[in-house]
Amino acid sequence: MAKKVVVVGGGTGGLVAARMLQTEANRMGQPLEVTLVTASERHYMPPLWSEVALGTASVDETWAPIKNAERVYGFKVLVDPVKTFDLKGRKVTTEGGTTLDYDFLVIALGTAYGWSDYPGLDKYGFHNYGPEGALELKEALFKFKGKKIVFLVPELPFRCGIYPLEMALNVRAYFEVRGQHPEITVLYPANAVRMALGEGLERFFLRRFKRHGIKYEAGFEKLVEVTEDKIVTQKGEYAYDLLIKSPPSRLPKVLADNGLAHPGDPRFSVVTGPRFQHPEYPEVYLVGEHAMPPVGLLTAGVPIHNAAVVAAGSILHDAFGGYMIPSYAPTLCFGHSFESGFMGNCEYWWIPEEGKWGHACYTVATGPTIRMVKDSFYRAWLDALR
Ligand SMILES: Cc1cc2nc3c(=O)[nH]c(=O)nc-3n(C[C@H](O)[C@H](O)[C@H](O)COP(=O)(O)OP(=O)(O)OC[C@H]3O[C@@H](n4cnc5c(N)ncnc54)[C@H](O)[C@@H]3O)c2cc1C
Repeated sequence: MAKKVVVVGGGTGGLVAARMLQTEANRMGQPLEVTLVTASERHYMPPLWSEVALGTASVDETWAPIKNAERVYGFKVLVDPVKTFDLKGRKVTTEGGTTLDYDFLVIALGTAYGWSDYPGLDKYGFHNYGPEGALELKEALFKFKGKKIVFLVPELPFRCGIYPLEMALNVRAYFEVRGQHPEITVLYPANAVRMALGEGLERFFLRRFKRHGIKYEAGFEKLVEVTEDKIVTQKGEYAYDLLIKSPPSRLPKVLADNGLAHPGDPRFSVVTGPRFQHPEYPEVYLVGEHAMPPVGLLTAGVPIHNAAVVAAGSILHDAFGGYMIPSYAPTLCFGHSFESGFMGNCEYWWIPEEGKWGHACYTVATGPTIRMVKDSFYRAWLDALR
């Protein structure tokens, strides 16, 4: 009888895992029934929301219908949010009342945004961490006539560590050609750039920031509040005319409600490395953004992609009696920087005594071609589902 895999979440991690499971099983002529259950008919490519804010992409260009994966990759897709996980009984139940049983479960549910966890953070400022927010930021940038723009990272780790760095350079370029030269400051609670991306990429960004007159201030430690014209932190106050904010990461509610919070840090989910399994139920894999920090990984699409590949390989190994489980691969990351682009690479090694990956990152290349590769990669990813 065909083994059943349920994949919960139709974003980066869910699509990568379901696609690899079904296409590898089909290629080898092995029976495997893969069902992806998701909350939205839209498979989004979130980095393209930055382009929506800058006016170079429409919201419709940032997503493709996840249902098309049935035709393209051959697994089933159910659009109906999961409400309960019964790990003991190996079942998930959706809000619509469908119950699916499984031999293996993969969970990739991204992150929730804790905007209301700091006074004023939900009320003031703009962001492009969603399509509606991106349209609001687009309008705010278009109308901007002020002097001070502040990018605020309230808390670490947060969704996509390179975002404010890339966006600050893009915003500088956006205004420069309009003949405006606002003061741009990027505020981090600690030096996360070095911690997460290493000295090589930190040097790259600091050089670029110096060249383009962007201030990088890392070390305010704790955000106190945001008011309509300033950010108050433990280490000082920062006035702004335009605030561009990143969200604090929080565990998606359905995972919190079902007892899947990490015991050491409830902002994230339970998980153990190096195969991304649940500590008590090894047939359950957690590969979404919520599962990255507990095993020392970054909260971005590229590490999640790799985690989904490891989990899919591990399921194929157990289901079919031997399939070489891929090692956690180096993560090549493409970014924008002003008119140009950069390519950074992080290499990983598993540290069993810490239960985490160690990592080292460095700059591989810079130049305008890399910006083009990044843009084409996102569009090609979505085109494959159209
Ligand atoms: C502005 C921005 C720029 C970014 N830039 C980059 C970048 O340059 N490089 C990079 O690597 N990463 C980048 N990222 C981060 C990257 O997009 C995310 O880390 C990645 O998409 C997370 O993958 P995921 O599968 O965990 O979750 P997501 O892709 O967020 O998908 C979560 C899925 O879960 C579904 N879901 C939610 N609730 C339920 C439920 N109850 N039941 C079933 N399904 C549910 C949702 O519908 C969705 O399909 C960026 C993100 C943003 C916002």
